[in-house]
Amino acid sequence: MSSPKTQISIAYLKGVGPARGQLLASELKLREIKDLFAFFPNRYIDKTKFYKVNELNENSSEVQIIGKIIGLTTVKQKNGSRLVAKFADATGTIELVWFKGAKWIKDSIVLNELYVVFGKVNDFKGKKSIAHPELELKSVYESGIKKAIQPIYPSTEKLSNRGVSNRVMSKIFEELFLAYYSQIPESLSQTIIEKHGLISKKEALLHIHFPKNQEMLTKASNRLKFEELFFIQLQLVRKKVVRKNKIVGFKFPAIGAFFNDFYNSKLSFELTGAQKRVLKEIRNDMRSGTHMNRLLQGDVGSGKTIVALLTMLMAIDNGFQAALIAPTSILANQHFTSINASLDGMGIKVSLLTGSSKVKERKEIHAGLEDGTLHILIGTHAILEDKVKFKNLGLSVIDEQHRFGVAQRMKMWLKNTNPPHVLVMTATPIPRTLAMSVYGDLDISVIDELPPGRKEIQTVHRYDKNRLAVFKFMRDEIEKGRQVYIVYPLIEGSEKMDYKDLMDGYESIVREFPSPKYQLSIVHGKMKPVDKDFEMDRFVRGDTQIMVATTVIEVGVNVPNASIMIVESAERFGLSQLHQLRGRVGRGAEQSYCVLMTSFKLSQDAKTRLETMVTTSDGFKIAEVDLKLRGPGNIMGTQQSGVLNLRIADISKDGPLLEAARQEAHSLLSEDPNLLKQENAPLAKAYQEIAKNTSIWANIS
Ligand code: ADP
Ligand code: MG
Repeated sequence: MSSPKTQISIAYLKGVGPARGQLLASELKLREIKDLFAFFPNRYIDKTKFYKVNELNENSSEVQIIGKIIGLTTVKQKNGSRLVAKFADATGTIELVWFKGAKWIKDSIVLNELYVVFGKVNDFKGKKSIAHPELELKSVYESGIKKAIQPIYPSTEKLSNRGVSNRVMSKIFEELFLAYYSQIPESLSQTIIEKHGLISKKEALLHIHFPKNQEMLTKASNRLKFEELFFIQLQLVRKKVVRKNKIVGFKFPAIGAFFNDFYNSKLSFELTGAQKRVLKEIRNDMRSGTHMNRLLQGDVGSGKTIVALLTMLMAIDNGFQAALIAPTSILANQHFTSINASLDGMGIKVSLLTGSSKVKERKEIHAGLEDGTLHILIGTHAILEDKVKFKNLGLSVIDEQHRFGVAQRMKMWLKNTNPPHVLVMTATPIPRTLAMSVYGDLDISVIDELPPGRKEIQTVHRYDKNRLAVFKFMRDEIEKGRQVYIVYPLIEGSEKMDYKDLMDGYESIVREFPSPKYQLSIVHGKMKPVDKDFEMDRFVRGDTQIMVATTVIEVGVNVPNASIMIVESAERFGLSQLHQLRGRVGRGAEQSYCVLMTSFKLSQDAKTRLETMVTTSDGFKIAEVDLKLRGPGNIMGTQQSGVLNLRIADISKDGPLLEAARQEAHSLLSEDPNLLKQENAPLAKAYQEIAKNTSIWANIS
């Protein structure tokens, strides 16, 4: 809303006034008329529809049913008693339950008369009930005012305490529409409205607050969701187009000796189809002179490193340097060791720079970077320090990007006057819809295929009381020469307890697996980096059979001989973390196992997480479930994104609308890049207003 009239304070609206105006401003950020037009109910109660008892399930939420109460029982419980009514219609029965006021309700109920019942359905192991339902005799119900779909507005305790009830909110919106309906401007072009079968902005706003029926409500919410997603996509796509036009990418025209040599004589396996496809996508960027800013998604073990290495070789073949940044020194070390080994004898100079690099090494590295004799620099965020200057950095690869903050990524981007190509890799698969929103200004490549011959990791859920059996299983596997990870949670805010758990756990494992027969490593965040590396190395070499650790080993670590991952207190881990941890095993030829240990008491969400882990190993499926459980704002690495402060659309549910919005943004910008056409004037105006108020990450996300 940009017409000047809507910028006046809501206090002037009938039924609001200064006091409520202030309250609404502080509680809900509703200050001006235009804020009201961007404020929506967060759910609805549909009192136009009646359900049959046999249609109800746990997803029915709030429903209205008609039937008779055919029995009443009072059940004694710890404090007081609860009243249970058996409610029946022609299709079945359901229980109505009251925990409070049982006596009063019991006296007021008339058996075998028709009632209208309204409430939220609970489903406990197939037994359905409604607690504290609204209950009205059907005859009374019918004499009342006509029921409709009721909007329920977001509220706060303070608001309800001060009498700003849901009814008051509805009243405010009535007044709003009376005063301003005629002034609501259209914000999309007629072409887009028609193409997508949308209703007008005016109608949509009216029906989102006062839906005539379910059909109009759906149309209204579709229109508003589409608009919201469309303007975000328009910003993202525009950003991408502007970047591509403005920044000249380094041109890597040649596939040269380094690449070919390595590909033909060093690579010990055939690339998967997905790896080949992704390399082609990268190659197309690099030879074209456009600037690459690409997100490479691929599940744990899908072979992203080799793609990164081949891409770095393309840079070196064309006279440029390349950098690879990893989130932890363990991982940087490992990349360095394996890349150095695989490039052996090729005359490519590779160095490692981490927080624990010695001054002398650093000096050599700085010199080599500046005179161009150092080709590949691998390291941690130490690479991002200002002192580190490259002669001609052509490519930055960022591994496991979700571990980095935005600011750090920006820095790498700015390393050169001419920004290097950027390849950001992540093993936390992000559902496509989320990727389109958070990384909408990046190109995205996906490795959706694992190298052949991998055995699926067998995942089981075990309770703490099965621990002895788990120990026995560990012994048997160690007997066969395998190695075992045991991971303990380390959650912010409960570190003290967590460290205690870790140490207690460690001690019990030492008792169960005594030396000299068994050797243990332990790694956690409180250790000095050198000690960590020392313990890690012992495990990598196979000197120790059991690695007890916190989640520091979550990313990247590669010990192919480790075949068991035991996660303690697995209910405390998020899905993507569990998936990452599981990815530490199954890297060799042997059958691998993941054991999720939990206590007996589990929340519904925890059960879903464990079940998901046991039933699938597909990272993208797991990411979808994660998105549904936690909502887009909590998925790792996306918190900073202003893109996700959506008012009405929901990325986990509105995938198709999002796709349509993105396509529309693309086609609009290709026809009218600067939104100058007369037809797009209202749209351009709305766009400017929105772009002013949203913060979308700059350049590289
Ligand atoms: P991630 O994508 O998790 O970073 P890595 O790059 O560490 O995975 O690869 C995991 C393992 O798979 C490595 O040991 C790597 O050498 C191997 N690998 C990668 N690509 C292939 C392939 N096409 N065929 C066989 N093994 C492969
Ligand atoms: Mg990796």
